[in-house]
Amino acid sequence: APALWWLRRDLRLAENPALAAARASGRPVIAVFVHDESVAALGAAAKWRLGQGLEVLAQALAARGGRLILRRGPAGAALAALAAETGAAELHWNRLYDRASRARDSAVKAELRAAGLRVESHAGHVIFEPMSVETGQGGPYRVYSPFWRAVKDRPVAAPEPAPAHWPAPEAWPVSDRLADWAMGAAMRRGAEVLARHAVVGEAAARDRLAAFITHRIDGYRALRDFPAEPATSGLSENLAWGEIGPRTIWHAGQAALAQGARGAEHFLKELVWREFAWHLLYHFPDMDHQNWRPEWDEFDWKPDNDAAEAWRRGLTGEPFVDAAMRQMYVTGTMHNRARMIAASYLTKHLLTDWRVGLAWFADCLTDWDPAANAMGWQWVAGCGPDAAPYFRIFNPATQATKFDPHGRYRRAWIAEGQPAPPDTARAYFDAVPRAWNLSPDRPYPRPLVALDEGRRRALAAYEHLPRKK
Ligand code: FAD
Repeated sequence: APALWWLRRDLRLAENPALAAARASGRPVIAVFVHDESVAALGAAAKWRLGQGLEVLAQALAARGGRLILRRGPAGAALAALAAETGAAELHWNRLYDRASRARDSAVKAELRAAGLRVESHAGHVIFEPMSVETGQGGPYRVYSPFWRAVKDRPVAAPEPAPAHWPAPEAWPVSDRLADWAMGAAMRRGAEVLARHAVVGEAAARDRLAAFITHRIDGYRALRDFPAEPATSGLSENLAWGEIGPRTIWHAGQAALAQGARGAEHFLKELVWREFAWHLLYHFPDMDHQNWRPEWDEFDWKPDNDAAEAWRRGLTGEPFVDAAMRQMYVTGTMHNRARMIAASYLTKHLLTDWRVGLAWFADCLTDWDPAANAMGWQWVAGCGPDAAPYFRIFNPATQATKFDPHGRYRRAWIAEGQPAPPDTARAYFDAVPRAWNLSPDRPYPRPLVALDEGRRRALAAYEHLPRKK
Protein backbone atom coordinates (compact mmCIF):
# COMPACT_ATOMS: atom_id res chain seq x y z
CA ALA A 1 0.00 0.00 0.00
CA PRO A 2 1.52 3.35 -1.03
CA ALA A 3 2.01 6.56 0.93
CA LEU A 4 0.60 9.79 -0.50
CA TRP A 5 2.70 12.95 -0.44
CA TRP A 6 0.37 15.93 -0.83
CA LEU A 7 2.26 18.92 -2.24
CA ARG A 8 1.09 22.46 -1.73
CA ARG A 9 3.64 25.27 -1.41
CA ASP A 10 6.58 22.89 -1.24
CA LEU A 11 7.54 22.06 -4.82
CA ARG A 12 10.87 20.48 -3.94
CA LEU A 13 12.48 17.13 -3.27
CA ALA A 14 15.26 18.22 -0.89
CA GLU A 15 14.49 19.58 2.58
CA ASN A 16 11.00 18.20 2.40
CA PRO A 17 10.02 16.62 5.72
CA ALA A 18 6.67 15.34 4.37
CA LEU A 19 8.39 13.56 1.51
CA ALA A 20 11.10 12.26 3.85
CA ALA A 21 8.44 10.82 6.16
CA ALA A 22 6.55 9.24 3.27
CA ARG A 23 9.78 7.60 2.11
CA ALA A 24 10.71 6.51 5.61
CA SER A 25 7.53 4.44 5.68
CA GLY A 26 9.23 2.10 3.24
CA ARG A 27 6.14 2.23 1.00
CA PRO A 28 5.89 3.33 -2.61
CA VAL A 29 5.29 7.09 -2.73
CA ILE A 30 2.71 8.91 -4.85
CA ALA A 31 3.16 12.67 -5.18
CA VAL A 32 -0.13 14.50 -5.61
CA PHE A 33 -1.06 18.13 -6.19
CA VAL A 34 -4.71 19.15 -5.85
CA HIS A 35 -6.21 22.09 -7.74
CA ASP A 36 -8.64 23.23 -5.06
CA GLU A 37 -10.22 26.52 -4.04
CA SER A 38 -6.86 27.83 -2.78
CA VAL A 39 -5.49 27.55 -6.33
CA ALA A 40 -8.62 29.02 -7.87
CA ALA A 41 -8.24 32.03 -5.55
CA LEU A 42 -4.67 32.85 -6.63
CA GLY A 43 -3.86 36.07 -8.45
CA ALA A 44 -3.10 35.88 -12.16
CA ALA A 45 0.71 35.96 -11.95
CA ALA A 46 0.89 33.66 -8.94
CA LYS A 47 -1.30 31.08 -10.60
CA TRP A 48 0.74 31.18 -13.79
CA ARG A 49 3.93 30.87 -11.76
CA LEU A 50 2.55 27.89 -9.81
CA GLY A 51 1.81 26.18 -13.11
CA GLN A 52 5.42 26.70 -14.19
CA GLY A 53 6.64 25.28 -10.90
CA LEU A 54 4.45 22.19 -11.22
CA GLU A 55 5.74 21.54 -14.71
CA VAL A 56 9.38 21.65 -13.63
CA LEU A 57 8.69 19.53 -10.56
CA ALA A 58 6.95 16.91 -12.70
CA GLN A 59 10.09 16.75 -14.87
CA ALA A 60 12.32 16.36 -11.81
CA LEU A 61 10.13 13.52 -10.54
CA ALA A 62 10.10 11.83 -13.96
CA ALA A 63 13.90 11.98 -14.09
CA ARG A 64 13.95 9.85 -10.91
CA GLY A 65 11.31 7.41 -12.04
CA GLY A 66 8.49 9.17 -10.21
CA ARG A 67 5.36 10.99 -11.35
CA LEU A 68 3.35 13.99 -10.29
CA ILE A 69 -0.34 13.16 -10.04
CA LEU A 70 -2.67 16.12 -10.60
CA ARG A 71 -6.26 16.09 -9.34
CA ARG A 72 -9.03 18.62 -9.01
CA GLY A 73 -10.34 19.42 -5.51
CA PRO A 74 -11.91 19.99 -2.99
CA ALA A 75 -8.81 18.55 -1.36
CA GLY A 76 -10.55 16.17 1.05
CA ALA A 77 -12.64 14.53 -1.65
CA ALA A 78 -9.75 14.37 -4.15
CA LEU A 79 -7.36 12.80 -1.65
CA ALA A 80 -9.97 10.36 -0.36
CA ALA A 81 -10.70 9.24 -3.92
CA LEU A 82 -7.01 8.83 -4.71
CA ALA A 83 -6.46 6.88 -1.49
CA ALA A 84 -9.36 4.58 -2.35
CA GLU A 85 -8.09 4.00 -5.92
CA THR A 86 -4.52 3.25 -4.89
CA GLY A 87 -5.17 1.55 -1.55
CA ALA A 88 -2.91 4.16 0.08
CA ALA A 89 -2.24 3.67 3.77
CA GLU A 90 -0.61 6.99 4.65
CA LEU A 91 -0.84 10.68 3.81
CA HIS A 92 1.84 13.31 4.50
CA TRP A 93 2.07 17.05 3.94
CA ASN A 94 3.95 20.12 5.17
CA ARG A 95 1.94 22.52 7.30
CA LEU A 96 0.77 25.97 6.18
CA TYR A 97 -0.26 28.64 8.65
CA ASP A 98 -2.90 30.88 7.12
CA ARG A 99 -6.47 30.48 8.32
CA ALA A 100 -7.94 28.97 5.15
CA SER A 101 -5.18 26.37 4.80
CA ARG A 102 -5.43 25.40 8.45
CA ALA A 103 -9.19 24.94 8.27
CA ARG A 104 -8.89 22.89 5.10
CA ASP A 105 -6.07 20.79 6.48
CA SER A 106 -7.79 19.87 9.73
CA ALA A 107 -10.87 18.82 7.77
CA VAL A 108 -8.71 16.70 5.45
CA LYS A 109 -6.99 15.15 8.44
CA ALA A 110 -10.29 14.15 10.01
CA GLU A 111 -11.73 12.85 6.75
CA LEU A 112 -8.76 10.73 5.76
CA ARG A 113 -8.22 9.39 9.27
CA ALA A 114 -11.87 8.34 9.28
CA ALA A 115 -11.11 6.49 6.03
CA GLY A 116 -8.45 4.54 7.89
CA LEU A 117 -5.26 6.27 6.72
CA ARG A 118 -2.36 7.28 8.88
CA VAL A 119 -2.25 11.07 8.37
CA GLU A 120 0.67 13.26 9.41
CA SER A 121 1.58 16.88 8.85
CA HIS A 122 5.15 18.15 9.11
CA ALA A 123 7.10 21.36 9.66
CA GLY A 124 8.58 22.38 6.30
CA HIS A 125 7.38 25.80 5.22
CA VAL A 126 9.29 27.82 7.80
CA ILE A 127 12.32 27.28 10.02
CA PHE A 128 10.69 28.34 13.28
CA GLU A 129 7.05 27.33 13.41
CA PRO A 130 4.75 30.11 14.63
CA MET A 131 3.47 28.15 17.61
CA SER A 132 6.99 27.25 18.72
CA VAL A 133 8.06 30.84 19.40
CA GLU A 134 6.57 32.75 22.31
CA THR A 135 7.46 35.70 24.50
CA GLY A 136 8.50 35.43 28.14
CA GLN A 137 4.91 36.17 29.14
CA GLY A 138 3.62 33.53 26.74
CA GLY A 139 1.83 34.65 23.58
CA PRO A 140 3.07 35.83 20.21
CA TYR A 141 5.72 38.39 19.35
CA ARG A 142 4.47 41.68 17.94
CA VAL A 143 7.85 43.28 17.40
CA TYR A 144 10.53 41.94 15.10
CA SER A 145 13.78 42.51 17.06
CA PRO A 146 12.87 40.37 20.09
CA PHE A 147 11.54 37.72 17.71
CA TRP A 148 14.91 37.67 15.98
CA ARG A 149 16.73 37.42 19.31
CA ALA A 150 14.45 34.57 20.36
CA VAL A 151 15.23 32.44 17.32
CA LYS A 152 18.65 33.38 16.04
CA ASP A 153 20.65 30.94 18.16
CA ARG A 154 18.28 28.02 17.95
CA PRO A 155 19.71 24.87 16.45
CA VAL A 156 18.37 24.31 12.93
CA ALA A 157 18.29 20.78 11.54
CA ALA A 158 20.26 20.06 8.38
CA PRO A 159 18.11 19.77 5.24
CA GLU A 160 17.02 16.28 4.19
CA PRO A 161 18.60 15.21 0.88
CA ALA A 162 16.48 14.64 -2.23
CA PRO A 163 15.84 10.98 -3.10
CA ALA A 164 18.01 9.70 -5.95
CA HIS A 165 15.46 7.10 -7.05
CA TRP A 166 11.73 7.17 -6.66
CA PRO A 167 9.97 4.39 -4.73
CA ALA A 168 7.39 3.88 -7.50
CA PRO A 169 4.12 2.00 -7.01
CA GLU A 170 3.33 -1.00 -9.23
CA ALA A 171 0.77 1.02 -11.16
CA TRP A 172 0.28 4.78 -11.42
CA PRO A 173 -3.11 6.33 -10.85
CA VAL A 174 -4.48 8.60 -13.59
CA SER A 175 -3.60 12.26 -13.54
CA ASP A 176 -5.12 15.43 -14.96
CA ARG A 177 -3.10 17.16 -17.67
CA LEU A 178 -1.51 20.37 -16.45
CA ALA A 179 -2.31 22.06 -19.77
CA ASP A 180 -6.01 21.47 -19.13
CA TRP A 181 -5.79 23.50 -15.96
CA ALA A 182 -4.89 26.61 -18.04
CA MET A 183 -2.92 28.11 -15.17
CA GLY A 184 -1.89 31.11 -17.29
CA ALA A 185 -5.34 31.91 -18.63
CA ALA A 186 -5.75 35.08 -16.59
CA MET A 187 -2.34 36.37 -17.73
CA ARG A 188 -3.05 36.44 -21.46
CA ARG A 189 -0.19 38.05 -23.37
CA GLY A 190 1.59 39.14 -20.20
CA ALA A 191 2.71 35.58 -19.51
CA GLU A 192 5.22 35.62 -22.36
CA VAL A 193 6.85 38.68 -20.89
CA LEU A 194 6.90 37.25 -17.37
CA ALA A 195 8.40 34.00 -18.61
CA ARG A 196 11.62 35.87 -19.46
CA HIS A 197 12.06 36.80 -15.82
CA ALA A 198 10.88 33.78 -13.86
CA VAL A 199 13.53 31.48 -12.43
CA VAL A 200 11.63 28.26 -11.97
CA GLY A 201 12.28 25.04 -10.09
CA GLU A 202 14.43 23.52 -7.42
CA ALA A 203 17.68 23.25 -9.39
CA ALA A 204 17.41 26.87 -10.55
CA ALA A 205 16.67 28.02 -7.00
CA ARG A 206 19.73 26.20 -5.69
CA ASP A 207 21.89 27.84 -8.38
CA ARG A 208 20.43 31.19 -7.47
CA LEU A 209 21.34 30.71 -3.82
CA ALA A 210 24.86 29.58 -4.73
CA ALA A 211 25.40 32.59 -7.03
CA PHE A 212 24.17 34.95 -4.32
CA ILE A 213 26.45 33.43 -1.68
CA THR A 214 29.46 33.48 -4.01
CA HIS A 215 29.06 36.90 -5.59
CA ARG A 216 26.69 39.12 -3.70
CA ILE A 217 26.31 38.38 -0.02
CA ASP A 218 29.39 40.43 0.84
CA GLY A 219 27.85 43.58 -0.62
CA TYR A 220 24.29 42.77 0.47
CA ARG A 221 24.16 45.10 3.41
CA ALA A 222 25.53 48.11 1.55
CA LEU A 223 23.64 47.64 -1.72
CA ARG A 224 20.38 45.91 -0.89
CA ASP A 225 18.37 49.15 -0.89
CA PHE A 226 19.41 50.23 -4.38
CA PRO A 227 16.84 48.85 -6.81
CA ALA A 228 19.09 49.16 -9.87
CA GLU A 229 21.71 46.89 -8.25
CA PRO A 230 21.41 43.14 -8.59
CA ALA A 231 22.27 42.96 -4.90
CA THR A 232 19.60 40.76 -3.33
CA SER A 233 19.05 37.03 -3.68
CA GLY A 234 15.81 37.02 -5.69
CA LEU A 235 14.83 33.92 -3.72
CA SER A 236 11.38 35.13 -2.66
CA GLU A 237 9.94 33.76 -5.89
CA ASN A 238 11.27 30.30 -5.09
CA LEU A 239 10.51 30.45 -1.39
CA ALA A 240 6.91 31.38 -2.15
CA TRP A 241 6.38 28.07 -3.96
CA GLY A 242 8.76 26.10 -1.82
CA GLU A 243 11.23 25.40 -4.63
CA ILE A 244 13.93 25.84 -2.03
CA GLY A 245 13.63 25.22 1.69
CA PRO A 246 14.31 27.94 4.26
CA ARG A 247 16.71 25.74 6.25
CA THR A 248 18.87 25.31 3.15
CA ILE A 249 19.12 29.09 2.88
CA TRP A 250 19.67 29.49 6.61
CA HIS A 251 22.61 27.08 6.63
CA ALA A 252 24.14 28.69 3.54
CA GLY A 253 23.86 32.10 5.23
CA GLN A 254 25.35 30.76 8.45
CA ALA A 255 28.28 29.23 6.57
CA ALA A 256 28.93 32.57 4.85
CA LEU A 257 28.72 34.30 8.23
CA ALA A 258 31.27 31.88 9.68
CA GLN A 259 33.58 32.76 6.79
CA GLY A 260 33.24 36.44 7.56
CA ALA A 261 30.91 37.55 4.73
CA ARG A 262 29.95 41.11 5.65
CA GLY A 263 26.30 40.99 4.57
CA ALA A 264 25.55 37.54 5.97
CA GLU A 265 23.94 38.50 9.25
CA HIS A 266 21.79 41.04 7.52
CA PHE A 267 20.68 38.46 5.01
CA LEU A 268 19.76 36.00 7.77
CA LYS A 269 17.75 38.75 9.43
CA GLU A 270 15.80 39.33 6.24
CA LEU A 271 15.09 35.63 5.97
CA VAL A 272 13.73 35.80 9.50
CA TRP A 273 11.39 38.65 8.45
CA ARG A 274 9.66 35.98 6.40
CA GLU A 275 9.43 33.80 9.52
CA PHE A 276 8.06 36.76 11.46
CA ALA A 277 5.42 37.37 8.79
CA TRP A 278 4.14 33.80 9.16
CA HIS A 279 4.31 34.11 12.93
CA LEU A 280 2.05 37.15 12.72
CA LEU A 281 -0.39 35.69 10.22
CA TYR A 282 -0.75 32.53 12.30
CA HIS A 283 -1.41 34.39 15.52
CA PHE A 284 -3.42 37.22 13.91
CA PRO A 285 -5.22 35.44 11.09
CA ASP A 286 -7.27 38.51 10.09
CA MET A 287 -4.10 40.42 9.29
CA ASP A 288 -4.52 39.87 5.56
CA HIS A 289 -7.77 41.84 5.42
CA GLN A 290 -8.25 43.81 8.67
CA ASN A 291 -6.32 46.67 10.21
CA TRP A 292 -4.13 45.05 12.81
CA ARG A 293 -4.58 48.11 15.03
CA PRO A 294 -8.36 48.43 15.35
CA GLU A 295 -8.26 52.23 15.84
CA TRP A 296 -7.38 52.38 12.13
CA ASP A 297 -10.90 51.25 11.30
CA GLU A 298 -11.82 54.90 11.89
CA PHE A 299 -9.31 56.18 9.34
CA ASP A 300 -10.79 57.77 6.28
CA TRP A 301 -9.23 55.46 3.67
CA LYS A 302 -10.47 56.02 0.15
CA PRO A 303 -11.91 52.95 -1.53
CA ASP A 304 -10.65 52.09 -5.02
CA ASN A 305 -10.55 55.19 -7.23
CA ASP A 306 -9.18 56.65 -10.48
CA ALA A 307 -5.88 57.69 -8.94
CA ALA A 308 -5.41 54.15 -7.66
CA GLU A 309 -6.04 52.89 -11.18
CA ALA A 310 -3.31 55.24 -12.45
CA TRP A 311 -1.07 53.82 -9.73
CA ARG A 312 -1.79 50.27 -10.90
CA ARG A 313 -0.92 51.26 -14.47
CA GLY A 314 2.33 52.99 -13.55
CA LEU A 315 0.98 56.39 -14.59
CA THR A 316 1.16 58.43 -11.41
CA GLY A 317 3.70 60.85 -12.88
CA GLU A 318 6.01 60.05 -9.98
CA PRO A 319 8.92 58.26 -11.69
CA PHE A 320 10.15 56.08 -8.81
CA VAL A 321 6.59 54.87 -8.15
CA ASP A 322 5.83 54.24 -11.81
CA ALA A 323 9.12 52.42 -12.35
CA ALA A 324 8.23 50.16 -9.44
CA MET A 325 4.74 49.39 -10.71
CA ARG A 326 6.01 48.66 -14.19
CA GLN A 327 8.83 46.48 -12.92
CA MET A 328 6.23 44.37 -11.14
CA TYR A 329 4.06 44.08 -14.23
CA VAL A 330 6.96 42.99 -16.42
CA THR A 331 8.92 40.77 -14.04
CA GLY A 332 6.38 39.60 -11.44
CA THR A 333 8.57 41.00 -8.67
CA MET A 334 9.44 44.40 -7.31
CA HIS A 335 12.48 45.49 -5.38
CA ASN A 336 11.82 45.76 -1.64
CA ARG A 337 12.69 49.46 -1.44
CA ALA A 338 10.38 50.10 -4.40
CA ARG A 339 7.57 48.11 -2.72
CA MET A 340 7.83 50.42 0.26
CA ILE A 341 7.80 53.58 -1.88
CA ALA A 342 4.94 52.41 -4.11
CA ALA A 343 2.87 51.27 -1.12
CA SER A 344 3.52 54.47 0.78
CA TYR A 345 2.51 56.60 -2.20
CA LEU A 346 -0.80 54.75 -2.55
CA THR A 347 -1.71 54.81 1.12
CA LYS A 348 -0.45 58.30 1.94
CA HIS A 349 -0.20 60.55 -1.11
CA LEU A 350 -3.32 58.94 -2.59
CA LEU A 351 -4.96 58.18 0.78
CA THR A 352 -6.14 54.88 -0.64
CA ASP A 353 -6.96 51.84 1.47
CA TRP A 354 -3.95 49.53 1.78
CA ARG A 355 -6.18 46.59 0.86
CA VAL A 356 -6.55 48.03 -2.66
CA GLY A 357 -2.78 47.84 -3.04
CA LEU A 358 -2.50 44.45 -1.35
CA ALA A 359 -4.97 42.99 -3.85
CA TRP A 360 -3.07 44.38 -6.84
CA PHE A 361 0.23 43.02 -5.55
CA ALA A 362 -1.46 39.65 -5.03
CA ASP A 363 -2.54 39.69 -8.66
CA CYS A 364 0.82 40.73 -10.11
CA LEU A 365 3.54 39.13 -7.97
CA THR A 366 5.04 35.77 -8.81
CA ASP A 367 6.48 35.74 -5.27
CA TRP A 368 3.08 36.46 -3.74
CA ASP A 369 3.09 35.32 -0.17
CA PRO A 370 -0.01 35.88 1.97
CA ALA A 371 2.00 36.61 5.10
CA ALA A 372 4.77 38.85 3.71
CA ASN A 373 2.33 40.80 1.55
CA ALA A 374 -0.04 41.49 4.45
CA MET A 375 2.78 42.38 6.81
CA GLY A 376 4.41 44.63 4.20
CA TRP A 377 1.25 46.58 3.44
CA GLN A 378 0.23 47.03 7.06
CA TRP A 379 3.75 48.04 7.94
CA VAL A 380 3.87 50.74 5.30
CA ALA A 381 0.32 51.94 5.94
CA GLY A 382 1.09 52.33 9.64
CA CYS A 383 -1.72 50.12 10.92
CA GLY A 384 0.31 46.95 11.40
CA PRO A 385 2.41 45.45 14.18
CA ASP A 386 5.84 47.04 14.57
CA ALA A 387 4.84 49.41 11.77
CA ALA A 388 6.44 52.60 10.56
CA PRO A 389 4.44 55.48 12.05
CA TYR A 390 1.92 56.91 9.58
CA PHE A 391 3.37 60.39 9.81
CA ARG A 392 6.68 59.13 8.44
CA ILE A 393 5.79 59.64 4.81
CA PHE A 394 8.26 58.53 2.17
CA ASN A 395 8.97 61.25 -0.33
CA PRO A 396 9.45 59.33 -3.59
CA ALA A 397 11.61 62.10 -5.10
CA THR A 398 13.99 62.19 -2.14
CA GLN A 399 14.03 58.40 -2.02
CA ALA A 400 14.93 58.35 -5.71
CA THR A 401 17.83 60.75 -5.16
CA LYS A 402 19.08 58.56 -2.36
CA PHE A 403 18.51 55.05 -3.68
CA ASP A 404 18.53 55.61 -7.44
CA PRO A 405 21.06 58.41 -7.60
CA HIS A 406 21.90 58.02 -11.30
CA GLY A 407 18.33 57.30 -12.41
CA ARG A 408 19.23 53.81 -13.67
CA TYR A 409 16.17 52.16 -12.12
CA ARG A 410 13.80 54.79 -13.45
CA ARG A 411 15.32 54.64 -16.93
CA ALA A 412 15.12 50.86 -16.92
CA TRP A 413 11.34 50.95 -16.54
CA ILE A 414 10.06 54.24 -17.96
CA ALA A 415 10.26 54.52 -21.73
CA GLU A 416 8.54 57.87 -22.21
CA GLY A 417 10.91 60.66 -23.06
CA GLN A 418 13.86 58.37 -23.82
CA PRO A 419 15.12 58.40 -27.43
CA ALA A 420 16.17 54.74 -27.19
CA PRO A 421 14.41 53.14 -24.23
CA PRO A 422 15.87 49.84 -22.99
CA ASP A 423 14.08 46.53 -23.63
CA THR A 424 12.79 46.40 -20.07
CA ALA A 425 10.98 49.72 -20.43
CA ARG A 426 9.55 48.74 -23.81
CA ALA A 427 8.48 45.34 -22.53
CA TYR A 428 5.98 47.03 -20.26
CA PHE A 429 3.91 48.06 -23.23
CA ASP A 430 3.90 44.47 -24.51
CA ALA A 431 2.84 43.11 -21.15
CA VAL A 432 -0.12 45.31 -20.23
CA PRO A 433 -3.66 44.65 -21.48
CA ARG A 434 -4.38 46.26 -24.86
CA ALA A 435 -7.47 47.85 -23.32
CA TRP A 436 -5.20 50.14 -21.30
CA ASN A 437 -4.20 51.69 -24.60
CA LEU A 438 -0.69 52.70 -23.54
CA SER A 439 2.11 53.78 -25.83
CA PRO A 440 5.77 54.58 -25.13
CA ASP A 441 5.51 57.48 -27.56
CA ARG A 442 3.09 59.49 -25.45
CA PRO A 443 4.47 62.11 -23.09
CA TYR A 444 5.10 60.96 -19.54
CA PRO A 445 2.08 61.88 -17.33
CA ARG A 446 2.03 64.88 -15.03
CA PRO A 447 2.03 64.03 -11.29
CA LEU A 448 -1.39 63.07 -9.87
CA VAL A 449 -0.64 65.21 -6.87
CA ALA A 450 2.19 67.54 -5.91
CA LEU A 451 4.34 65.77 -3.33
CA ASP A 452 4.06 68.46 -0.66
CA GLU A 453 0.29 68.69 -1.18
CA GLY A 454 -0.07 64.89 -0.91
CA ARG A 455 1.96 64.89 2.26
CA ARG A 456 -0.09 67.70 3.78
CA ARG A 457 -3.34 65.90 2.96
CA ALA A 458 -2.10 62.66 4.49
CA LEU A 459 -1.01 64.36 7.70
CA ALA A 460 -4.35 66.18 7.96
CA ALA A 461 -6.24 62.87 7.58
CA TYR A 462 -4.03 61.34 10.24
CA GLU A 463 -4.86 64.17 12.64
CA HIS A 464 -8.46 62.93 12.62
CA LEU A 465 -7.53 59.41 13.61
CA PRO A 466 -8.74 58.78 17.17
CA ARG A 467 -5.68 58.15 19.32
CA LYS A 468 -5.47 54.88 21.16
CA LYS A 469 -6.19 55.48 24.83
P1 FAD B 1 16.43 39.22 -0.20
O1 FAD B 1 16.79 40.62 0.16
O2 FAD B 1 17.45 38.42 -0.89
O3 FAD B 1 15.98 38.51 1.15
C1 FAD B 1 16.00 37.09 1.33
C2 FAD B 1 14.63 36.58 1.70
O4 FAD B 1 14.20 37.13 2.93
C3 FAD B 1 13.56 36.95 0.71
O5 FAD B 1 13.54 36.07 -0.39
C4 FAD B 1 12.31 36.86 1.56
O6 FAD B 1 11.86 35.54 1.68
C5 FAD B 1 12.79 37.32 2.91
N1 FAD B 1 12.48 38.74 3.08
C6 FAD B 1 13.25 39.80 2.77
N2 FAD B 1 12.64 40.95 3.10
C7 FAD B 1 11.44 40.61 3.61
C8 FAD B 1 10.35 41.36 4.13
N3 FAD B 1 10.36 42.70 4.20
N4 FAD B 1 9.27 40.67 4.56
C9 FAD B 1 9.22 39.33 4.52
N5 FAD B 1 10.23 38.57 4.04
C10 FAD B 1 11.32 39.20 3.61
N6 FAD B 1 7.71 39.30 -0.05
C11 FAD B 1 7.23 38.16 -0.58
O7 FAD B 1 7.93 37.16 -0.61
N7 FAD B 1 5.96 38.10 -1.10
C12 FAD B 1 5.12 39.19 -1.09
O8 FAD B 1 3.97 39.08 -1.54
C13 FAD B 1 5.63 40.41 -0.55
N8 FAD B 1 4.85 41.54 -0.56
C14 FAD B 1 5.37 42.71 -0.04
C15 FAD B 1 4.57 43.86 -0.03
C16 FAD B 1 5.05 45.06 0.49
C17 FAD B 1 4.17 46.29 0.49
C18 FAD B 1 6.36 45.12 1.01
C19 FAD B 1 6.91 46.40 1.56
C20 FAD B 1 7.16 43.98 1.02
C21 FAD B 1 6.69 42.76 0.51
N9 FAD B 1 7.48 41.59 0.50
C22 FAD B 1 6.97 40.43 -0.03
C23 FAD B 1 8.81 41.56 1.15
C24 FAD B 1 10.04 41.87 0.28
O9 FAD B 1 9.83 43.00 -0.51
C25 FAD B 1 10.44 40.69 -0.63
O10 FAD B 1 10.50 39.51 0.13
C26 FAD B 1 11.81 40.93 -1.24
O11 FAD B 1 11.78 42.06 -2.08
C27 FAD B 1 12.22 39.71 -2.03
O12 FAD B 1 13.44 39.94 -2.72
P2 FAD B 1 14.66 38.96 -2.51
O13 FAD B 1 14.21 37.55 -2.57
O14 FAD B 1 15.73 39.39 -3.46
O15 FAD B 1 15.04 39.29 -1.00
